[in-house]
Order: sequence, then C-alpha cells, then structure tokens
Amino acid sequence: MSFRRTKIVATLGPACDPIMDKLIEAGLNVARMNFSHGDHAEHEARWQKLQSAIKNSGKTIAIMVDTQGPKVRTSTFKDGSMELIEGETVFLKQGNADGGLINEEKTIYVNYHKLLDALKEHKIVYFADGLLEVKVEEVHKDKASAKVITGGKISNHKGVNVPNLEWDLPAIGSKDVKDIHWGIAHNVDYIAQSFVRNANDVRQLKKILEDEDASHIKVIAKIEEYPAVQNIDEIIEVADGIMVARGDLGVQMHIEQVPTVQKMIIKKCNRAAKPVITATQMLESMTTAPFPTRAEVTDVANAILDGSDAVMLSGETSVGKYPIKVIQMMAKISQQTEDKVLKYNRFDKYPIESESTKPANVTLAIANSACKIALEVKATAIIAYTETGRTPECLSRIRPNMPIIGITDEVRTARRMCLYGGVIPLVLNEHNKLDEVLRQATDAAQQTKLVKKGDLVVVVTGLPFGKSGETNLIKVQTV
Ligand code: PEP
Repeated sequence: MSFRRTKIVATLGPACDPIMDKLIEAGLNVARMNFSHGDHAEHEARWQKLQSAIKNSGKTIAIMVDTQGPKVRTSTFKDGSMELIEGETVFLKQGNADGGLINEEKTIYVNYHKLLDALKEHKIVYFADGLLEVKVEEVHKDKASAKVITGGKISNHKGVNVPNLEWDLPAIGSKDVKDIHWGIAHNVDYIAQSFVRNANDVRQLKKILEDEDASHIKVIAKIEEYPAVQNIDEIIEVADGIMVARGDLGVQMHIEQVPTVQKMIIKKCNRAAKPVITATQMLESMTTAPFPTRAEVTDVANAILDGSDAVMLSGETSVGKYPIKVIQMMAKISQQTEDKVLKYNRFDKYPIESESTKPANVTLAIANSACKIALEVKATAIIAYTETGRTPECLSRIRPNMPIIGITDEVRTARRMCLYGGVIPLVLNEHNKLDEVLRQATDAAQQTKLVKKGDLVVVVTGLPFGKSGETNLIKVQTV
C-alpha cells in the first residue's frame, strides 16, 4: 500500500473558513496562519474552526504561525487598491500600514520610517513580490516621485522590496512579539520567522520562547534575503527547520538565482537532518484556475526530487478559488513523483563515515544503520519510538523506501512530525518497558494499514525511556 511522503503546508485564509474539514481530508498536514494579514480576532475565529475540524478528523495536524518580520509593506488604500499605469509618475511617502485609509491621488504610503533616507534617484522599488516596479526620479523632504516601469493593480499591505537595501528594522518587531505570544497561547507547533538574516535573529526568537517556557515550539527560519543565503550554515545549525521563501527571495536576489539557491539550501538541510519546506507560487495559477500549468506541476515534482520535506501553498488556499482542488493536486503530484522518480535509500548521499573526522553523531549513525537493515531484511516499516522527534528526522533524510512510523507519547512531538518527509506520526500510551513499547508500537503500526501481522519491522528507540537524546537501540521484530 502506498502512502504520501511529502508533507503539504497550506496557508489558511478566508477561502478556507467554511471548508476546514475538507482541506484536512484533501491532505493538509501543516496549517499555516500568516500573521502578515488579518488581526487577532480573525485568526482566533479561524483557529477555533481549525481545532474543531482537526478534532472531527481524528488526524494529527500541525499549526504554524508565520510572523510578518521586518517586512516593509504598502499602507491601506481607500478603495483597497490603486492602479499603477506604466509611464505615469506616482509618489512614495512614509506612513504606517495600520494607520488608517490613505486617500491621496497617486500616492503609495510605505510603512518604513526611514524610506526617504533610503531612496535615491534611479533606485528601483518593487511591490507585491516584484510584480510591480517603479523607478525613483526625485527625492524630496516629504515624498519621492517615481516613474511606473511595470504597472498593474497595487493593493493593501503588499510587500515592498528595494534590492541591495537592508532595512534598518529589528529582527523581531513589536507586532511579531504579540503574534508570537498569540502562538504560544494557542499551543501552536511552529513559528516561521520571516526575514531572518543570521543565526542571532533565530536565537532571539528562541530566547523569547524559552523565557515563556515554550521551547517546545520549533522555529522555521524563512530564507528570503541575500544575507540569510550567505549565513545559511549557521542558520541551519540553530533553526529547527528552514523555509525556502521564494517570493521575497526572487526579488531580493536575481530571480534566475532562485533555483540554485533552492537546491543548495535543501541539500544542506537534508545533510543536517532538518526539515525543509519549498514555498511560494508552487501552484499559483490555481488561485484562479481549476488546473495548474505544466511548469508548476514540474516545479512541485522537482522540489520533491531536490529533497524537500514539504511543499507549501500560500494564496492558492488562503484566498484562492479552489483550495480543496489545489491540495488534492499537490497530493497527486507528490504521490506520482515519489512512486515513479524519487531516489530512495540515499546512503551514498549521506554516508556517516565521510561527514567528519570526529566520532559520528549517535542518532545519525543509528538512523543510517536502521535504514540499511530495513532495506536488507525487506522490512515493511521502520518504527521510531521518539521523545523529541529527532530520530525520525535523522531517518527521514535517507528517504528509506518504506514508511517511517514515528511513535511518541508526546502529542506535541506527534504534531511536529507532520512536517517530516516520509514520517507518519502516531501517539502511544504511557509505558515503561521495552516489551510494552514494542507491543503498542506494532499494534499502532498495523492501524496505519501499512503494516500487517507477520511483517518484519525495524524498531529504533533509546533506553532508558523518557531520556531524550539517547537513541541507542535497533531491533528487528516480527509483527
Ligand atoms: C515568501 O516570500 O516566499 C514567503 C513565503 O513569505 P510571505 O508569504 O510571508 O511573504
């Protein structure tokens, strides 16, 4: 029986509110709540709907709060948008995006307090992930004039990018702090940190979580700026996972560099056994159309072949016309790619011996060996009994050709595993003996229908139970 290994992260929004249960049924694994849009009341109502849909489904679903980060955005237009006409002159002014409706002719307010210091003649300013473009003509005391190079409709709270300009903004702003606290209060599993520049930015967020006794919430660093690409190794080391946020990345860097950066980041994440999400415009055309383009389908497949643990939908689900269809489509592409072209058992890619002259990390070494044994004895599954989820992460990077069943008595760990490629999370009752764990684990594995009585499975765990970071045991077992 086949199962889908690639996890689907889908952004919730108004289009999802009436159909939460159907999104889960269609294959959503991680629900992303994007705090760049909507207020707390809106997110609260959505979270309530999601909770009841999760409860009804009986499935394990993770929740990710995505912070706005130091992102500069347009303000609120009186009619919700404004038309930029090619060749026309518009004005750029400093103003708070939440400061009410702006009703000035041909004027775009931008929520950056040093905008007019930052803008210089001939600088290009992009809006909406680079879809719209203006060129600065003159900078005055209270405004800058700019010629529209690429026109179109500009709407509320759209991202603003100026290539090669580092905004002078704190890594975590006051809105982010409030949103992080919202996430803690709502028991979410992941915080996606926007516009990370270096490992210290990630450490700042981890410190907030630690101070609030919420270190169980894991941090996904969004790579969307050039400094983050330069500092990728230290970021991967500190963060719990990475998102290749191609929307902003494609404006902050040359767009043609995105595929190589994507492949480089995914490879490094696989090597470090950290989950990696490929995000943005994956099935963009399905925001308005019932079918994707051939190129989009190929992009999703290639992201999976690169080694992504998860693929992400943004506007396609949050405000799209076909949120259910787009998740089903992503699931179908993933399944087909995994069944037909994915290379499994990547021992040659991640051999333990060649990684370092130092002694190997025990969990990585055990994981590699467990995958080898499972392949040799033709096991139907690898069962990892885990406290923190680290063993399944390490197993996952090898992409064994059989499912990894991640079993835990921590509900939070089970939810966290929703992001790990090829890992099926299951919750186990309390126990303290190896025999009891094995019995419960094999019973639970049978519930997945991927394992049946008489099958051989490889079990990986650590003794004594309850002590994390102690993966030290491989057992081959008949179910
Ligand atoms: C991106 O830029 O690709 C991204 C995922 O971030 P956001 O959707 O928050 O702009």
